[in-house]
Amino acid sequence: MLKRLLPAAAVLLALGLYAGAPSAQAVRQVVRVAPDVYTMTGAGSNASFVVTDDGVLVFDSDIRNNDLPFIRKVTDRKIAYVFASHASGDHSTGAWFFREDKPVYIGTRDQIRAYYQHELKEFEERKVQKAPGYNTPGAQLFPPSIGFDDNLTVLFGGLTFQAKAEGYGHTSGDMTMYIPQRRVMLMGDLLNNEIHPGQAEAAGVFYADIQGTIDILNRIIERHLPVDTYVPGHGPVHVGKGIADVVDQRDYFIVMRDEVGKMVMAGRSLEQIQKEFTVPARFAHYPPGRLAGILRVIYYQLIEHGR
Ligand SMILES: [Zn+2]
Repeated sequence: MLKRLLPAAAVLLALGLYAGAPSAQAVRQVVRVAPDVYTMTGAGSNASFVVTDDGVLVFDSDIRNNDLPFIRKVTDRKIAYVFASHASGDHSTGAWFFREDKPVYIGTRDQIRAYYQHELKEFEERKVQKAPGYNTPGAQLFPPSIGFDDNLTVLFGGLTFQAKAEGYGHTSGDMTMYIPQRRVMLMGDLLNNEIHPGQAEAAGVFYADIQGTIDILNRIIERHLPVDTYVPGHGPVHVGKGIADVVDQRDYFIVMRDEVGKMVMAGRSLEQIQKEFTVPARFAHYPPGRLAGILRVIYYQLIEHGR
């Protein structure tokens, strides 16, 4: 039976089960993004779930954040589907928490490749290191059981879930999910609100591609979809802000790269850029935590291939 919570779109509950990556906010909270659509945010990466008459669909999971208790505060229905936006540990490692419901786990085919290429190895290494979350007794990394290229439509519980493999942006395979009946698009790490983007580090390799991300964001903007809220992979959800968040993220990469380019022309080294960089006013309120990392990605991609 569906447990109804307060209808307000603001913060609904805060269990305070902080066990995740560093974040500007320290407490994980559930935000109601649209009817039946919820995002867990505030500590570590964001993850979302959608409640339907036929069960629950989860988008993203992190072994460091057990989101099942948050979901159970809203509904007792079974988790039927789990999706992962991309193969980074903070988005694709928590399916284990839902194992008793035996959900179908879906990713892009690129994510399945990443599982065998580096994700499983990294997961096992972190288990050996007893990293937070990874040291959960019995924790296992499940691969997606279904992988797709391009587009996948899932009709479930009266809703349409339109998953799209957007190509190489934040990682070699980024998925978005659009729910037209709820005017919501779940963006994974293609979108970061009020926080510098990550560099998508996995096993010592930085996967984030600046131009690839700009190109994907431009394609999403050009779709002109009827969407009220684009849900970010990190940072607060701006309910109802629409495409403006995506435009901000696209502009972020253009503006930041332009600034790095000026410093490269002035002969600055990466170390000097990281030390001297002044974040443009539009993004100056972002916490500085991930700045040095994204500057490095921007710098090397400019030097290596000019974009
Ligand atoms: Zn992330």
